[in-house]
Amino acid sequence: MTESVIKDRDLPDLTNEEIGRYSRHLLLPEVGLEGQKRLKEAKVLLVGTGGLGAPLALYLAAAGVGTLGIVDFDFVEESNLQRQVIHGTKDVGRPKVASAKDRIKGINPRCNVVTYNTMLTSANALDIMKDYDVVADGTDNYQTRYLVNDACVLLGIPNVYGSIFQFEGQASVFYAKEGPCYRCLYPEPPPPGLVPSCAEGGVVGVLPGIVGCLQANEVIKLIVGGGDTLIGRLLLFDAWKLKFRELELDKDPHCPICGKSPTIYELIDYEQFCGLKKNQDEEPVEIITARELKERIDRNDPLQIIDTREPHERAIVKFPQARAIPLGQMARRIDEFDPAVDAVFICKIGQRSVFAIRALREAGYKGRLLNLKDGINAWAREVDTTLPTY
Ligand SMILES: [Zn+2]
Repeated sequence: MTESVIKDRDLPDLTNEEIGRYSRHLLLPEVGLEGQKRLKEAKVLLVGTGGLGAPLALYLAAAGVGTLGIVDFDFVEESNLQRQVIHGTKDVGRPKVASAKDRIKGINPRCNVVTYNTMLTSANALDIMKDYDVVADGTDNYQTRYLVNDACVLLGIPNVYGSIFQFEGQASVFYAKEGPCYRCLYPEPPPPGLVPSCAEGGVVGVLPGIVGCLQANEVIKLIVGGGDTLIGRLLLFDAWKLKFRELELDKDPHCPICGKSPTIYELIDYEQFCGLKKNQDEEPVEIITARELKERIDRNDPLQIIDTREPHERAIVKFPQARAIPLGQMARRIDEFDPAVDAVFICKIGQRSVFAIRALREAGYKGRLLNLKDGINAWAREVDTTLPTY
């Protein structure tokens, strides 16, 4: 059974209005007056106000969590609205923390909302996180996930973890005092680019709603105390097959941050750890902007334009002059390229196409290889505005 993370604190009283508002909680013996006071006393930090952060913020505010901190540096975009239900159509273009705060206040004006309109980094994470009782991780990248994990271990607070991709979600509670941490489960990040982001691979809109609600449920149990949490368990959810699975997680005695003889005592450089810093020996990839490409096409410059996207993406928007070669076939089809002619590689946002260029280089290709900066979305924004972005 879980102990409350704020069990030894003086708790605030509830007003009559609060007793009315939270009556359905007060009727549950597992929550009761004491549990509701704990929720009022609690401070929860949400890292990210995207797909996972949205249900987390909405339900935790409604549940009566006294202080919600929200960290995000992003602005609301139209493509967020399919799943980030805390933001509305009228919020497109606003900072996500501002839009989220308005919505939280609309649900529960008593919730004290602290906004951090910044990227969480090694320089600010401990300062931002130190006053909170629980952190819920709603980030979408490995460097922030390791950063949140390490900061939580160093500060001794639980990290309620969730992640989503396409139709699959994961959730757990990493609390080094009582169980494993994220590093015990994943000691090393995957090589950069190997696991596509939701921006490249897509995600079914309701999935973050489900996983974010699971996280909110864990946060409430950690505050109220009692119940069984996901400490030491990894929950795997497949929305397409509608299956939940569970893995038992053990603490790794050799874990570099929560193990018996830790080697990490402070926050590190997470971009470097996740391999995101440029390798000095690696030849840089040459880029071409959408406008430069348009000029070269208009001049009838000889070019080989290669679309590296998947067939279902080409169905969304086509690049007229391009030949389609899937990423996995690039090196094998090296003979189809003419090294005397510049080759331009296209994907959605200019990240996967880099792998096409690297694959050809590794296969010994000698011609000039150019990467379309920001992909076909940049072409649609800057050159052919009749095309959609996705
Ligand atoms: Zn660990």
